[in-house]
Amino acid sequence: MLTDIETLANTRNLTDDGLKALLSTDEYDGTLFSYADRKRRAVYGDAVYIRGLIEFTNYCKNNCLYCGIRCGNQNAVRYRLTDEEILACCAEGYRLGFRTFVLQGGEDPYDTDARICGIVAAIREHYADCAITLSIGEKSKESYRAYFEAGANRYLLRHETADSAHYRRLHPAGMSCENRKRCLYDLKEIGYQVGSGFMVGSPYQTTENLISDLRFLQELQPDMIGIGPYITHPDTPFAGYENGSLELTLRLIAVLRLMFPYALIPATTALGTVHPKGRERGLQAGANVVMPNLSPVRVRKLYSLYENKICTGEEAAQCRGCLERRVRAAGYQIVTDIGNPVRPGGEI
Ligand code: SAM
Repeated sequence: MLTDIETLANTRNLTDDGLKALLSTDEYDGTLFSYADRKRRAVYGDAVYIRGLIEFTNYCKNNCLYCGIRCGNQNAVRYRLTDEEILACCAEGYRLGFRTFVLQGGEDPYDTDARICGIVAAIREHYADCAITLSIGEKSKESYRAYFEAGANRYLLRHETADSAHYRRLHPAGMSCENRKRCLYDLKEIGYQVGSGFMVGSPYQTTENLISDLRFLQELQPDMIGIGPYITHPDTPFAGYENGSLELTLRLIAVLRLMFPYALIPATTALGTVHPKGRERGLQAGANVVMPNLSPVRVRKLYSLYENKICTGEEAAQCRGCLERRVRAAGYQIVTDIGNPVRPGGEI
């Protein structure tokens, strides 16, 4: 197995059999994580980039079977932030040292292209030195282009699962893996820095599915890769399913770091939700981004994708301070620059 880890570290690739063996046991985790940490330090040192997350709407027209803000969840209390509230989150974020704002939300029909472009343009006008990341789901190429021209420069859209049959089991008819992938390629072509990723341990997921996810990412070559454990939500059709595992998520973060040395990989909130030290462990397995929440505290609990989500009660400044301490304790340093990906030779 050591040979497999070395092969992965040296060639950024491994056979399906090698990956399957590596993902199926915890026996080599210590070695795998230390190779991943070494690789991350060689490229990014001990830097951890921060992205200020603004969860600006929990209305969603989609009905993904795993998600707490699916339109079919009648128990969800819906909210959307006004333009002024979003700009106030950015102002507070800027004051706290954030130079990336991530606007994330459900696919809210209220968010016309004109509204999104207006918000993006206003943020761009006030904060010329910041990156603006959108994470608002599947749109037409024309819409993506309009947001880009208004000033957005990054887009996060997890592919969720690269296997069409698995995708169909997680989503209602009318949503498809093919459209999600089309969106990702459109975004790349327009010139966005693109982030993709998947849930670990989603219902019906197999190790083969995870290998397909890695292969898809090798094809897409995204700048950012976000993965986190699937966590159940009581008001979804998947209420009875188990959460994804911390260990498998960490193992995949380490594999991703070795496959994509230059990628920006967050230690996600979901990782911190399944284990109190989940985000620290994620950093030590190769992650190099954290995404503290800048949303107003009154809406935090309402952006409820899954149960027991952490960081729902603290003001932005408290979240920022808490993460700073956690990152330092894990052996890294938060940096406040814009944190663009390093891309030698066009490869991540
Ligand atoms: N609407 C946008 C989209 O589709 O990309 C952004 C919002 S969506 C809620 C953000 C991410 O939350 C999804 O890509 C999914 O991976 C994650 N998510 C949703 N439900 C989850 C759950 N139960 N457990 C873990 N992650 C979940």
